[in-house]
Amino acid sequence: MPEPLRIVSIGAHPADVFDQSGGTMAHHADRGDHVTGICLTHGARVHDAVISDAMFHREVVPDAAELGGLITERADVKAAEVRAACGILGVTDVRFLGVDDGIMLVERSTIRDLAQLLRELRPDIVMTHYPFESDGVSANHAVAGQIVMHAIGYAGSVDPGDRHPPHRVGQVFFFGQGAATVRNGLWDSRGGYTNDVFVDITDVIDRKFAAMECLVSQGYAGAYNRKRIETGDGAFGGGTAAYGEGFIRMNAEVHYFLPFGAYTRRRQGDSDHEIMGRYSWRLPMPVADTLESRPESNPAEG
Ligand SMILES: [Zn+2]
Repeated sequence: MPEPLRIVSIGAHPADVFDQSGGTMAHHADRGDHVTGICLTHGARVHDAVISDAMFHREVVPDAAELGGLITERADVKAAEVRAACGILGVTDVRFLGVDDGIMLVERSTIRDLAQLLRELRPDIVMTHYPFESDGVSANHAVAGQIVMHAIGYAGSVDPGDRHPPHRVGQVFFFGQGAATVRNGLWDSRGGYTNDVFVDITDVIDRKFAAMECLVSQGYAGAYNRKRIETGDGAFGGGTAAYGEGFIRMNAEVHYFLPFGAYTRRRQGDSDHEIMGRYSWRLPMPVADTLESRPESNPAEG
């Protein structure tokens, strides 16, 4: 049995850590690897039922003090949801850097905090957002990916005040759901990013669904969860597995023999119909629609 791996998944917002890599985290936690989730921002603004949704149609929003208090309150609600969700996935080590998610920038103080955490946690593997996701400039996920890149670099050096020795991360896997999904719009035209690793998470997709159900504050529970699991993880089975998570490796790998794992060998031995059968299984989800509830898709204009 090899030495347990140390794995860190770093997301811009509280939900990112497990909605992008939750199944993979569960596999590694179950195997006995040390898995940590890090949320860079408190995420109180992102899709939040109070801060984002309820404020959207108001004439005026509360004054600065009241709004500040509300944001703190909602951040605590989110943190509790994330801890519950990660617990379902077997991940008990969850850290919050608490950066405000209003105007997210590549800031020296955040990089320093994260680098310190990396020197402490000493991960072999980091999973995070692709640094050029979406516009690569203002999109929170892209900025988070850039912060992580700076922090990984800085973690390899000493920082006065931090007694942990420098640490080098072995490999980075970028979340494919953000960077290599259906391409649309101007920014994606320069993309061409392709997942080169898929993790078959079919055996834990019920736990990932249950984890997503915890995110009531941002409206993920229920119909949205069902749709997202089917269109995201369902598509990321790589055409072979019922559900999967896709990743883009940062570093080319060096092997002694050509890499050819047990999974590839099994697929090689399966017939077309066996592969289609494996791919087509669907998690029963307790969320139903009716034709009566179908949303309008043919507005009068446009
Ligand atoms: Zn996010």
